[in-house]
Amino acid sequence: MHIGVFADIEGSFGIWRMRQCRMGTPEWQYGRACLTEDVNHVIQGAFDGGAQKVTVKDTHEVGFNCLINKLDKRAGYIGGHFIRPSLFGNIKNYDLVLYVAIHAASGTGDAFFPHTHYGIFSEVRINKQPVCEMDIYGSYIGEFGIPIGFVSGEDVAVAQALKSLPWARSVAVDKRKAMYTAGEKSHRYLLEGREKLRKTAAQAVRDASKMKPLIKNGPLHFEAEFRTEKLANKFNTWKFKQSERLVEWESENMIEGFEMFNKLTFFPKRIYPFRRPLTFFLRQVFRIKSTYLAPSPNSEGAFFD
Ligand SMILES: [Zn+2]
Repeated sequence: MHIGVFADIEGSFGIWRMRQCRMGTPEWQYGRACLTEDVNHVIQGAFDGGAQKVTVKDTHEVGFNCLINKLDKRAGYIGGHFIRPSLFGNIKNYDLVLYVAIHAASGTGDAFFPHTHYGIFSEVRINKQPVCEMDIYGSYIGEFGIPIGFVSGEDVAVAQALKSLPWARSVAVDKRKAMYTAGEKSHRYLLEGREKLRKTAAQAVRDASKMKPLIKNGPLHFEAEFRTEKLANKFNTWKFKQSERLVEWESENMIEGFEMFNKLTFFPKRIYPFRRPLTFFLRQVFRIKSTYLAPSPNSEGAFFD
């Protein structure tokens, strides 16, 4: 069994504020260490559960957040974004995905760093239903035949994900600063929490045969509500149907619909023809930058070793 461990960052144990998720900051450097610990426990869990092969796919921002030299050496690592065969690279031979450190959807009240796909949207809907990233990414990789069998993150994010992935195993992660700045008590919370990640990931892999690829049956009607009309005007270079800050498009399936979503979000019309060399170039730049030019970590008083 080949397990994909997909990593976002907002839902990591140890992370309580936005700056810890922002590339290049000393606080992010601390956040990366937190995420790497979480991911390592999920890798261990995957092997405990019977995985023969584990590959980590780093997904947050430009896709280089894990501390590569601290990751469990048994796992492969894919940083950065791709065009083909999928945005996540070559995922075709994965049997199951475990999604670490997720966050709530755009528009979720009282949630940590809620957004869907990118911070410019106030809500994203498919066939009139508000969706979270696990709906979108889950049904995208679902069309490649791959189920998501595990999620970890803030309780509200996990609840949103489980609505679409009722078979998935989950771990809720506290986002309150006080949980991580209480010395020995925080150390215990982190140890227990990550032990839960390991055990739950192992259980998900053992139960892999009960997991289903998420499929959203087409035709699909996407609605992306931008935070402002100005943003909608700026990003809608493809002239999708637009009324004020709402941009809409239709697709036959999720692979096509997500491709259009990425055109709207990341590939303006004039850049689109160069997207493959561009993503290749960016992968090289950010791999070097995040490996060799990273600041030293600032844990701001959190337990950290
Ligand atoms: Zn993220």
